[in-house]
Amino acid sequence: MLNQLTISELTGKLAKRECSAREAMQACLDQIQRVDRRIKAFLGYDAADALAQAKAADKAIADGADFKQRPLLGVPVAVKDVLCVKGHPCNCGSKILGKFVSPYDATVIERLKAAGAIIFGRLNMDEFAMGSSTENSAFFTTLNPWDTARIPGGSSGGSAAAVAADEAIATLGSDTGGSIRQPAALCGVVGLKPTYGRVSRYGLVAFASSLDQIGPFSKDVRDAAVIMSVISGLDPRDSTSVPEAVPDYADALGGNIKGLKLGLPKEYMIGGLDPEVKAAVDAAVRQLQKLGAEAREISLPHTDYAAATYYIIAPAEASANLARFDGIRYGLRVDGADPVELYGKTRGAGFGAEVKRRIILGTYVLSSGYYDAYYLRAQKVRTLIRQDFLKAFEQVDSIVTPTTPTAAFKVGEKSDDPLQMYLSDVFTVAANVAGICGISVPCGFTQSPKLPIGLQLLGKPFGEATILKLAHAYEQSTGWHREKPPLP
Ligand code: GLN
Repeated sequence: MLNQLTISELTGKLAKRECSAREAMQACLDQIQRVDRRIKAFLGYDAADALAQAKAADKAIADGADFKQRPLLGVPVAVKDVLCVKGHPCNCGSKILGKFVSPYDATVIERLKAAGAIIFGRLNMDEFAMGSSTENSAFFTTLNPWDTARIPGGSSGGSAAAVAADEAIATLGSDTGGSIRQPAALCGVVGLKPTYGRVSRYGLVAFASSLDQIGPFSKDVRDAAVIMSVISGLDPRDSTSVPEAVPDYADALGGNIKGLKLGLPKEYMIGGLDPEVKAAVDAAVRQLQKLGAEAREISLPHTDYAAATYYIIAPAEASANLARFDGIRYGLRVDGADPVELYGKTRGAGFGAEVKRRIILGTYVLSSGYYDAYYLRAQKVRTLIRQDFLKAFEQVDSIVTPTTPTAAFKVGEKSDDPLQMYLSDVFTVAANVAGICGISVPCGFTQSPKLPIGLQLLGKPFGEATILKLAHAYEQSTGWHREKPPLP
């Protein structure tokens, strides 16, 4: 079925006229009809608009378009509902955006469209990307295609589930503390968080501006590389995007990984690590060694402080970023006798419990008298955490860890305990705090129930090509990514 293809497979067929973009788009829409009542990955999609875009892609192909210049021509791509797509709603999993419709395209959307992609749907997420399970969505919880009693991870749970369930060929998500890598791991797909500054954040609704990055979810590593080459690069509209040249990431794949050095941080072998996850990651390291990589133990001494640092910095930035949702400029408005009452009523009705918790936390750590003790101190620890990584990367090319301490947990299992929920990010948050890149690639399954496990490969700043190359070599030699969830 066309919806099960990777980007490379689909564009190969399109180029040879073995199928049309319209058929591929229709196959994804049919799959959504078949499975999304159970999975609930999509907040919305416009089938007529999708098919019209597909028709235009077919015309471009008939006119002899060059797939080298438009590597995503005719490929159905859906995106997390935190990205602005011109003329379409954007809700961020929140009620507060009401009937807001994006007046412009995010830079990544502009680039995907220029590369020929069909942007066709909005994917569910935790409200404003705060969460690890999609249970914080104001609309509904997305379910894991491998076991619908379980969460798909978060906050980009819809993006991961849609790829795992073959409802889209690839998707985009955002990662502030793990929101691409963690759901990718729990749904058995590939997810990459780029280096801070690699991908423009223009048109991404901000959660924590110094941590947020947009990245791909895909069925294999090659597809992640293809998308990365399309979306990366300097953007004058995001002053934190970096003028570092964008390589052809797919070109770097396939080569030998002999002699590449892997670091295994001793601090990551923590108590809460599930034995099956540990066994899968240990086996993956042995596999990488068999392929010629060298592994050694390293130390990241400030690891213990990464989650605490993140949960000060992220809420602090969120409390500032979310101040703009005041009932005046966007979406929902609940009237009041005066502006202050209007703000209060709108924000009280529009934000969910987790978002309110973060705003209160963030406002507290930034308030005078507490600023030095919390926010300023967190910034200092942030520097130490970044230095840990930069020092480690003087010795190794990539750092290997589990993506998550356990496989997917059950719906409701952690939703009453924010601290437990925060701890599911222990292995992913440090990369955002340090600004480095990371990828999660499938590395096996738990026995019973059969649930995916993810391997995390962290890379140097702008070292995406290296982690893609390692992940690709691993993936191709194991084939875990080819397993499909038990869906109709
Ligand atoms: N789970 C983390 C949080 O709740 C990370 C979310 C994200 O990366 N957007 O903040």
